[in-house]
Amino acid sequence: MTASIELDWLKKWDLYSPKNIAIKDGETGRELSYAQLFEMANRGSQYLRGTFGISKGDRVAVLATNELEYVILFFALQRLGAIMVPVNFRLTQREVDHIITDSAPKLVICQEAFIGILEKLPTSVKAEKLLLQGPHSFAEEILKASAEVYPFVPEETDPVMILYTSGTTGSPKGAILTHKMIFWNSINTTFRLNISQTDCTVSFLPFFHTGGWNVLTTPFIHRGAKVVILKKFDAEQILLLSEKEKATILFGVPTTMDMMVRSPLFAKSDLSSIRYSIVGGEPMPIELIKVWDKKGIPIRQGYGLTEFGPSVFSLNEEDALRKIGSIGFPNFYVEAKVVDNEGHELGADEIGELVLKGPACMQGYWHNEKATKETIKDGWLYTGDLVRRDSEGYYYVVGRKKEMFISGGENVYPVELEQVLRACPGVLEVAVIGVPDEKWGEVGKAFIVRQHESVLTQHLLDHCLQNLAKFKIPKHFIFLDALPKGDSGKILKRKLQELA
Ligand code: AMP
Repeated sequence: MTASIELDWLKKWDLYSPKNIAIKDGETGRELSYAQLFEMANRGSQYLRGTFGISKGDRVAVLATNELEYVILFFALQRLGAIMVPVNFRLTQREVDHIITDSAPKLVICQEAFIGILEKLPTSVKAEKLLLQGPHSFAEEILKASAEVYPFVPEETDPVMILYTSGTTGSPKGAILTHKMIFWNSINTTFRLNISQTDCTVSFLPFFHTGGWNVLTTPFIHRGAKVVILKKFDAEQILLLSEKEKATILFGVPTTMDMMVRSPLFAKSDLSSIRYSIVGGEPMPIELIKVWDKKGIPIRQGYGLTEFGPSVFSLNEEDALRKIGSIGFPNFYVEAKVVDNEGHELGADEIGELVLKGPACMQGYWHNEKATKETIKDGWLYTGDLVRRDSEGYYYVVGRKKEMFISGGENVYPVELEQVLRACPGVLEVAVIGVPDEKWGEVGKAFIVRQHESVLTQHLLDHCLQNLAKFKIPKHFIFLDALPKGDSGKILKRKLQELA
């Protein structure tokens, strides 16, 4: 049970033929078949072992955009039992310093564009450095290495990756992802999403985020589908490539789905090959789900997190409208419960914290026993997310536990307010947070991106009065040109808190 690609399964699935493309660079058109990927991963492992002495348990950090070599490196390191540490290259020097110091890699591999970051790392960092592409790089040197399979079989509890979580959840911590976790996530996702060899997706989700690896490892490890990778999100490029490549699945986050709808190409694009779209990371606005549905693409909202899966819930295609707004029910081999503050299980329609158990749970946080103990208790992972399960067993995300605020003794969940305000004509984007208030304890503050300046506070208030109980209605409305967003497109609420 490992997360690597193996020769016998390539043969079993009839994938060991040059025509079975595993991965394609959407910009350059370069492709790698499954057979080539397998060979390159072997060469990569021999090179890293021979030149840098990389072996079991060693960390190798990577600063790079989505590249074919990044994927080769991922499988090469697994052959050696080494651990990849993908680093978000958009972080500040201080943040990168923290990740590199914390994970203490033996080697850091980066693209030329990020050399400056490496040069400024603290002197205490002893890692060797290597370029991913270009002269004397990983890409070039592996071509000279032996293609022999390095005879190492990892244990299922061996880590594959340490992923530092995005920071929307607080200070960055390194979640340890094991072979077992990635293997079971891949099984879960493959079956739940009914992925087969004929599937294709165009993915911009970055490899420094769990979403990027989910899109890759799932089809690769168990079904042999094709993934076209992009270095960054570009609405037009995704629309064009999805049409050209006859993509069958579209992965996204609400922001990118919204940007695609706003593109002038959207109406003209023939997306009829797409079976459905998996959208997660944030609650998907109801109106946006309907727009995509009209285009013939059911939105299967999914829910996941770096620390578990990352694919945990998804909505079935036939429920896309019937259970609109729901994240569906748990994937196979995922146990889910809704609990109160004391950990007691709650019943249908009661709001509480989502806790999860199963083989796709992370091992813990790297060198952070305290955070691990706070997150995993009695084998259950505490997500910090508030959810509700309806009487039919469908789950709805209500918000983050930390984001819920109490106004005049009543619980208020920002997600509900955001859904309501998003439906108000003239509102493009919205985020709500709780702020201290002398009279009510806390009140809502709504940050709004509007279509035009004629959208006024009174207009929003009238809309809220028709749709929300008085205690929930935000007391403050702030108009912004744009909401602060992280690299995966998520709204950064902590930035709004700072602003407030
Ligand atoms: P990350 O580890 O960066 O993938 O972030 C995981 C977090 O994203 C979860 O704990 C949730 O707070 C949030 N999230 C993921 N999917 C959804 C969804 N469909 N609706 C609302 N929040 C979500």
